[in-house]
Order: sequence, then structure tokens, then C-alpha cells
Amino acid sequence: MTKPITLLVIMMSCCFSAAAQVHQHGQGQLFASQEKQDWHVQFILPAADVIGFEHAPESAEQKKALQALAKRLTTNDSVVRLSGKCTLIEATHSLFAEHKDSQEHAAEHEHEHHEKDQHEEKHHETNGHEKHVGQATHTDVEVEYHFSCASSSEKLSVTLFEWLPTLNRIQAQWITDAGQGTATLTSTNPDVEW
Ligand SMILES: [Zn+2]
Repeated sequence: MTKPITLLVIMMSCCFSAAAQVHQHGQGQLFASQEKQDWHVQFILPAADVIGFEHAPESAEQKKALQALAKRLTTNDSVVRLSGKCTLIEATHSLFAEHKDSQEHAAEHEHEHHEKDQHEEKHHETNGHEKHVGQATHTDVEVEYHFSCASSSEKLSVTLFEWLPTLNRIQAQWITDAGQGTATLTSTNPDVEW
């Protein structure tokens, strides 16, 4: 089980965006950064935990669910809260963009997920992208919030756990004027203080 940990370290030390390479259901990532009054908080979450499926919406019901979720993500309240006098400047999400190239991502994901299963990996390589539709597809949902804080923020609280029951933990990494650090957030420990 050393592989997932290694991957996570690489992803977390690499970059603040485009980290969507592999995911385990129930586990998300959070990156927070401060540049004076500007704060950016980004989440990368398995679509399975946020939407309930990882493919493009097929039924009217799934499309409706996606629309409702998109609306929910336009404000930060049900995702993350920052202490201090902070104003939400912008909220962005990958909800609709992500599905277009989910098959491309899936090819990468499959290799990671099935690394121990050589037969499975070979099978996927020879069959191309078409075969990744359905259960083999993995998709991340990326959500990013930009805050402007008139006073220094000293605490971040993740509120996602309250309505995403399958989300077990979030690996958080932050760089603020006060320093940097990492933490594992859960429903019983959803806060970061700096
Ligand atoms: Zn997945």
C-alpha cells in the first residue's frame, strides 16, 4: 500500500491546479493559499462522492441533480467557511467541463487504480478509450473559491462533510502568511487553524 501515499505526496507537493490524476473514493483534497488579503481555496473531490456517479449525466434526473449541485457550489457556505471578514469574490467549478474529457482522464486513472492487476491494465490499454465508459471512468469535481479578507483569517472549516456522507477525509495543504502545513480533515475534525 505504499503506492497511493507516494502519489499523494507527489500531487500535493507538485502544484495547486491540475492535480486530478488519481483518486480514491471517499477521499478529497484541499489546497488553500493566501496572498495578503487574497485567499484561494480549492477542492478536488471524487465525483462519486459529490454527484454519485462519474460519467456524463444520462437521465433527466442526473442532469437535474448536476444543475442543483452547480447552484449549491456557487456560494461557499456548503463547502467551506473562512473566519475573519472575508467576502467571496468568485466561485468556479468543473462540474460541466470535466465530463467532456472524463474519458481521457479515465485512461490515466485506470493505470493507477489497477497497477497491481497487470492483466486488467493491459486489457484497458489495448481497448482504447471507448471501454472506459461506465464503471471504469473516474472523474474529479474541482471547486475553487476566491475570497478577499479585510482581516486575517485564522480558521477554515470544511462544511462538505455535512451533506456528503461518503466523503471520509480530505487531505488539506495550505500556504498562508503565517506559514504552511498539512492536515487530514474528517467530519469530526473539519477545521484548520493557522
Ligand atoms: Zn472514481
